Amino acid sequence: MQPLSNETLLAIAHDYGTPVYVYHAEKIEAQYQQLTHAFQETNTRFFYACKALTNISILKYIGNLGCNMDCSSINEVQLALYAGIPPNRILYTSNGIAFDEIEAAVQEGVHINIDSISNLEKFGKKYGNTYPVGIRLRPNILAGGNLKISTGHDKSKFGIPVDQIAEILNIIQQYNLIIKGLHIHTGSEIKDVSVFVQGITVLFDLIPKFNHLTYIDLGGGFKVPYKENEEGTNIELLAKEVKRAFSAHPNPNGKPLEVWFEPGKYLVSEAGYFITQVNVLKPTSATTFVSVNSGFNHLIRPMFYDAYHRIQNISNPNGKHIHYSVVGNICETDTFAWNRLLNETREGDFLVFYNAGAYGFEMSSNFNSRFKPAEVLVLNGETHLIRKRDSWQDLLKNQIEVL
Ligand code: PLP
Repeated sequence: MQPLSNETLLAIAHDYGTPVYVYHAEKIEAQYQQLTHAFQETNTRFFYACKALTNISILKYIGNLGCNMDCSSINEVQLALYAGIPPNRILYTSNGIAFDEIEAAVQEGVHINIDSISNLEKFGKKYGNTYPVGIRLRPNILAGGNLKISTGHDKSKFGIPVDQIAEILNIIQQYNLIIKGLHIHTGSEIKDVSVFVQGITVLFDLIPKFNHLTYIDLGGGFKVPYKENEEGTNIELLAKEVKRAFSAHPNPNGKPLEVWFEPGKYLVSEAGYFITQVNVLKPTSATTFVSVNSGFNHLIRPMFYDAYHRIQNISNPNGKHIHYSVVGNICETDTFAWNRLLNETREGDFLVFYNAGAYGFEMSSNFNSRFKPAEVLVLNGETHLIRKRDSWQDLLKNQIEVL
């Protein structure tokens, strides 16, 4: 799959203005096909972790590919339903939520993974054995790109610690709960396939304690390449290892277990481009700053958890290489890249940030009262505006003027 060309990106920058997020539909499809192809011999279901990018056109597109949807709030569940995805293809993996959201998810008839003893007990009291449910466990495994995106270690807030298994089993027995799935998500950007196998091994010790399991959910977290020549998670190897592990450990209760995954980044990261324009060049004794018409209000990943985004000057792709520090225009230190080699850059040039599909627009804000960017979808070679840039009215929309 060829990435979008500089010409296409420049045309979008001219037609729709900047900053603008651009998503390449066929790249999302190619990623999904790669997953389903690799896992064709395993009893697998993929749920797109839609927190990565919830634009409704993207949800519809991914849903139409046949992919299921993993949600992390009741609003995401509602968006998935609105996008036409039926409840039996929607999963709500909760995290520290109020019980009324679980009640709302039950009303909608979606799959639910519960992540605390407290909510499991409330669930037992209210629903007993009438609504089969999954449990999100914390496997106590340290993995992921860095600590901020590691979720399965022994100090993480996510999931019920596996060492509390006796309490879990007590609640199940007390309320006659039907536990249909066990879930773990160890973190994001996990390149090492053995981490997934380690997680499976933790679950295999627990499976015999549950009589009604139909699925094991291994979460998301596949690594995608960020730098040129970097490698992501070896999906083919992962599929082989998962198959091997499950054939060696058949479900003691008879029926083979489904294996669920919740990829977010893997489906949309590389399909996304974020185009900005250079406002100001500022040579200093330390570095030459390139200040773009954006900041962590639009793309927070580099500042939030040191994410690396490749950056290219698409206005001068053959210019000589010079070191620059790319920063934003808001009133906090918002360094996208320090001393990065770029083609010679001038004010007015367009800079593209790659790998911008996941957790890009989705984590954006109106900080400094700046507008959120527009979003454009490239589908079958045509461009479609799928979200307008914010306008002045958006800044005031929910405010109530009392003076
Ligand atoms: N599933 C759960 C429970 C998560 O918390 C996340 C990410 O935060 C994901 C799936 C998706 O992770 P990724 O985008 O790294 O695949």
